[in-house]
Amino acid sequence: MKAEIIAVGSELTNGAKLDTNSQWLSTELSARGIEVIYHTAVADSMDLMVWALRVALRRAHLILLTGGLGPTLDDITRQAVAELLHVSLILDHDSLQHVEQMFQSRGREMPARNRIQAMFPAGAEPLPNPIGTAPGMWCEVPKLDADHHVAIAAMPGVPSEMRKMFLEQVIPRLPVGEKIIKRARVNCFGVGESACEEMLEELTARGRNPEVGITVHEATITLRINAVGNSIEECDQMIADTKKEIHHRLGDLVFGEEDEELEDVVMSVLANKQLTLSTVESGTGGLLAHRLTNVDAHPELYHGGIVIPGGSRHWELLDFPENWFQEHSLASAETAVEMASRCRLHFETDFALAVTESSPSDESAEGFPTAHVALSSDEGEIVVPHQLLGDRSFLKSRAAKAALNLVRVQLLQQ
Ligand code: ATP
Ligand code: MG
Repeated sequence: MKAEIIAVGSELTNGAKLDTNSQWLSTELSARGIEVIYHTAVADSMDLMVWALRVALRRAHLILLTGGLGPTLDDITRQAVAELLHVSLILDHDSLQHVEQMFQSRGREMPARNRIQAMFPAGAEPLPNPIGTAPGMWCEVPKLDADHHVAIAAMPGVPSEMRKMFLEQVIPRLPVGEKIIKRARVNCFGVGESACEEMLEELTARGRNPEVGITVHEATITLRINAVGNSIEECDQMIADTKKEIHHRLGDLVFGEEDEELEDVVMSVLANKQLTLSTVESGTGGLLAHRLTNVDAHPELYHGGIVIPGGSRHWELLDFPENWFQEHSLASAETAVEMASRCRLHFETDFALAVTESSPSDESAEGFPTAHVALSSDEGEIVVPHQLLGDRSFLKSRAAKAALNLVRVQLLQQ
């Protein structure tokens, strides 16, 4: 069964509001084994709505509409459905009573124009809306051809009303999906999206079950596993097998699952080994410290961080030699190493992480600014260059994550 969602409202097409209804509905439908093939947002216009509906009718078995069921002149979903089906609008007395009651309960008289909310295309079934005035509607479109039946559900635009109506009224009317869908996420860091895809080879092939999709956010790669099976157990087993294969191919590029972030993993490994950490960062605005202090567990293992504003020469806290910056740039590997080792002494921790600021004068051979992240431990210092490409907030986030990843990988090897 293929579904299509049409979100109605000029506020959606002109950019004033984001269509969150379609996102929510898609998640719900997918979980029930119903594939969503199109999202459409359409302005409050009769012609455009009928057009969108006609197209949807040909390619989907289920059309979910949200919005445009209100009483005002620009709310024309019911009229558009009637036009599509070549039928007229008919008053439903129970629905009229409901709308009148909603007004009475608020101590107001129903304005005449709200009567339209109790009118439905002939043959459509009203869907009650206990928390709002606008009832929804359900209609099954007469046979288009031998094996293409279409059902249309129209629901209010208000997200809370739409959700309740979908769960209580629409779901029971849907055919029971024979298949179960389960999802899982595996998070990776330290490799580009296309390199990652190459390493995964046929795991990311379209049509594979479970399917593995790749998304990337600020250099964190998320592998989204989608398993379709006959039972939860079957899906769980398929997901477990695919995860094993991912770990096998990506090794320690994989750092966690579901909502786990690099800092969660770092803090939990530190806790297992009872080791402590401190940080010093320049040009990241304290993002590294911010991430580490977002973790609730074991705050005592993070001894603190020094945040040095970009371009600042105020390095007194770390006792940098007076003439250091005459000989080294802020973004250099030498500065990163020196920062990390002085930070470790200052906070008396097992590990210290340093991030240098990126600077155009430290461009790499490829012409990108480069920052360095360094790790200091009693085994010495490691420093890694990072080419940075992107806007300021992305660079900060990437540099902070690169530092967290450096200590994570080091901890794994201990
Ligand atoms: P009602 O009669 O209850 O107002 P309606 O069907 O007429 O319902 P609209 O007037 O289109 O709904 O929208 C009501 C509210 O819901 C508005 O604040 C609108 O921005 C919001 N809304 C509508 N569609 C969506 C959507 N697709 N995603 C998120 N919010 C939406
Ligand atoms: Mg509207």
